[in-house]
Amino acid sequence: MPRLSAVGISGLQAGEDVKKIRLIFKILQRIGKRRKAFPVPFTREASAVPVYLDCNATTPMEPAVIERMQRFLTTDYGNAASPIHSFGEWARLAVEHARLQIARLLAVRPDDVIFTSGATEANNLALLGLAAFGERSGRKHILSSAAEHKSVLEPLQWLERKGFAVELLPTTSAGYTDPQALAKALRPDTFLISLMQVNNETGIRQPLEEMAALLQDHPALWHVDAVQGFGKDLEGCRLERIDLLSVSAHKIYGPKGVGALALRRRGRERPPLEPLMAGGGQEQGLRPGTLPVPLIVGFGEAAKLAGRFAAARREACLAFRAGALEALLPLEPVIHGAPSFCLPHTLNLAFPGISASRSIAALKEVIAVSATSACTAGSPEPSHVLRAMGVPKVLAACSFRISWCHLTEKVDWDEVVSILQRLRME
Ligand code: PMP
Repeated sequence: MPRLSAVGISGLQAGEDVKKIRLIFKILQRIGKRRKAFPVPFTREASAVPVYLDCNATTPMEPAVIERMQRFLTTDYGNAASPIHSFGEWARLAVEHARLQIARLLAVRPDDVIFTSGATEANNLALLGLAAFGERSGRKHILSSAAEHKSVLEPLQWLERKGFAVELLPTTSAGYTDPQALAKALRPDTFLISLMQVNNETGIRQPLEEMAALLQDHPALWHVDAVQGFGKDLEGCRLERIDLLSVSAHKIYGPKGVGALALRRRGRERPPLEPLMAGGGQEQGLRPGTLPVPLIVGFGEAAKLAGRFAAARREACLAFRAGALEALLPLEPVIHGAPSFCLPHTLNLAFPGISASRSIAALKEVIAVSATSACTAGSPEPSHVLRAMGVPKVLAACSFRISWCHLTEKVDWDEVVSILQRLRME
């Protein structure tokens, strides 16, 4: 087995070229093809780590969440579907406790929380899992928006290919869907509406209350991708008119790889969801597969903390935002989306004339930010969200997102500003 130092790993630091890291990965993948496993490629030097400002892509984990998960990764490793002995029984209880913690935050019944591998799966389950109902009822019109996450847009494309009429509502320059546009587009055969709570790229919250009011007398099911609002905008998730909500643990200081689709009943009736997979019958048959108990336990703990500390976290984010704006506003950036609709943990901004890739590369030793959503970051195209808001292509290509949280460390804004000023002069 080649030694890591032979491929330059031992000397690698956080600030080193992405190109070098890519090359090393390629070599490791080649080695991996011949051998069963390859080692963790590198460790970063703590001193060289920039301040992480990409919390909408994923958040750091709360220490209390990690601590709570520990036991379920080590001694308490039972399968929640084997409650025949104490290992399984303990795992089952831990899962049900977490389910309750998440249900409380969403104001749904615990048995209506279906665990998934994350929100991508929850969105797929919601949209594709309701298709059979649409077919049966003969109502095949679906409304959504052009600024949704790809994990909503792509299943919708699939449904379109299967004969559903999918209509994407426009996004205003303020970053939200106009409720009046929704009202106008509603048809008697609209069976499903999928509109997100908070946009991941801009932090803009939808006028959910107005939407709920005008949907009150329409029978369409309303699915909300609540990933970016869950645990932050508590009221938005609790609106009674919303029928299905997709949430994810790794956006609320929990682990990656677990999420949920929450169903809300109308009276006794649950949304007529059908599973996408067949298997062991877990999650009431709606999402079969062995439950990842440690992840679910961490998710539950993260949800509990999100409810308990929502106000304090919001204050911390507002204070960070004020500092960021004070430092950056003299550079006259273009800020995307209406500030009054923006949650306090996101800024999507552009410095005209400086491409986002140049800014991000120049700033990477100081702050870690991203150009678009993590799920589309590999794409060379400018953000589909900004384009949906009517931002010209050239300006969209200069835009990047800063997103933070209550755990974010202090940023050296003077350094950030001087780097951006230098880029402007070049
Ligand atoms: N929807 C939105 C709005 C998101 O921001 C994300 C994560 N980027 C997802 C869905 C997908 O979530 P997950 O990573 O849990 O699959």
